[in-house]
Amino acid sequence: MTGNGSLWERLAPPAPYCPPLEGSARTDLAVIGGGFLGLSAALHAAEAGMDVVLLEAEGPGFGASGRNTGFVVPSLKSALGPAEAEALLGQPHAARLLRLVAGSGDAVFGLIERHGLEVARARNGWLQPGHSTAAEAMLKGRLPALLEAGVDAEFLSRGEMLALAGLPSLHGGLRVASGGQINPLAYARGLARAALAAGVRIHAGSRASGLQETATGWRVATAAGEVAARQALLATNAMVGPLCPPMRDGIVPVRVYQVATQPLPDEFRRRILPAMAPVADTRRHTFALRWTEDGRLVTGGMAVPGPGRDARAARGFLARLRAFVPGLPELRADAVWTGTIAATMDALPRMVRLGPGLFGAIGCNGRGVALSTALGRETAALLAGRTAAQDFVLPVTAPRPVPMARLSGLGPHLWLPWSGLRDRLEAQG
Ligand SMILES: Cc1cc2nc3c(=O)[nH]c(=O)nc-3n(C[C@H](O)[C@H](O)[C@H](O)COP(=O)(O)OP(=O)(O)OC[C@H]3O[C@@H](n4cnc5c(N)ncnc54)[C@H](O)[C@@H]3O)c2cc1C
Repeated sequence: MTGNGSLWERLAPPAPYCPPLEGSARTDLAVIGGGFLGLSAALHAAEAGMDVVLLEAEGPGFGASGRNTGFVVPSLKSALGPAEAEALLGQPHAARLLRLVAGSGDAVFGLIERHGLEVARARNGWLQPGHSTAAEAMLKGRLPALLEAGVDAEFLSRGEMLALAGLPSLHGGLRVASGGQINPLAYARGLARAALAAGVRIHAGSRASGLQETATGWRVATAAGEVAARQALLATNAMVGPLCPPMRDGIVPVRVYQVATQPLPDEFRRRILPAMAPVADTRRHTFALRWTEDGRLVTGGMAVPGPGRDARAARGFLARLRAFVPGLPELRADAVWTGTIAATMDALPRMVRLGPGLFGAIGCNGRGVALSTALGRETAALLAGRTAAQDFVLPVTAPRPVPMARLSGLGPHLWLPWSGLRDRLEAQG
């Protein structure tokens, strides 16, 4: 099994032992993929009385779940407010999704508490400042609908945001009190421990290589074994590969870079994000920043691929950080890593039905720490027969291919210069 290359590997407790699958197994539910979504679904399905086998190609948290920034965000993407969600999903699904999102911070921190998971965390809210006067006004206008949906958000003036973030170029915006930050790999490994304790059989180093319908359900093959399951859930996110082309073609893979600085002196900890509440603003190419438990700043975003891309990305993001945080000392990139977000064109997650008893959940976009956890719980209720398909939080649909998804590699070349220019012009306005 390979590591995921992130800083979190240096800080997280080790993964629990999960032997590779060997020989034949039989189960109620086969979950493929050991990220937040698969682990949460497996844990909750086992708690609902199902027998569950989880197959993970590498180890728990190997994918986006163990590489992300660890922001617990009880909110959809900034382009997707309550009104936009309703226009896209209609009622009642928009209302259900917003309720799920509103409670998704509680879902994460509740699981950590309930199972005593060893996860470095801070629950002092999540900050979303505007990057312009117009964005600040947009966030203020969105507040009543968020409150109505149950999101515990408040609006902060520019001065109040400055007091909480210590970043003078940011405008006023929202604070969602039930959000916060975690060490994401520690959380993925903790969820795996909780799932094992609930009776889930987790097999790491067990890539599902074939999926075949049988008279009684599905047969999932790996290199050294196979699982016969009544139902199966694909929770493979952007890493699905050739296993299931309809899932692969339903998302746009977006590669995101992360950079961690050296540990910084305490004076900066007191001045920048002093409550350890992470910040992510509204620009298209989001500026996001957090502290780690060992006193480093982590930031990142998209970068143009090509030779020397990690070093180039690190230089670019550290320069951007210095522009946002006046007075920082010389910065070093102590860790640079990447992960892939499974994005959808409308930024909404999807629940797809791929065949009788075969489901796939995808597309938590850049919001999957909290949303995948909560969606995993709801998916378990669907698979356990406790929620009918028509009552599920999302429409259960056939897979929909993203037009020209194969051209997504061009995205950073075209999208970054355009969005950077728009962001800069708006910030000046
Ligand atoms: C750099 C980065 C930063 C992010 N920051 C944030 C953030 O701060 N806050 C936030 O809310 N969201 C963030 N996200 C998004 C979030 O990480 C994802 O939405 C979430 O982790 C998705 O979880 P998942 O379980 O669906 O997928 P993943 O975590 O990607 O899990 C999929 C798993 O499936 C396994 N797999 C794939 N194919 C197979 C197979 N054939 N057989 C067996 N196993 C297989 C993979 O090894 C992997 O472990 C970020 C994402 C990235 C990449």
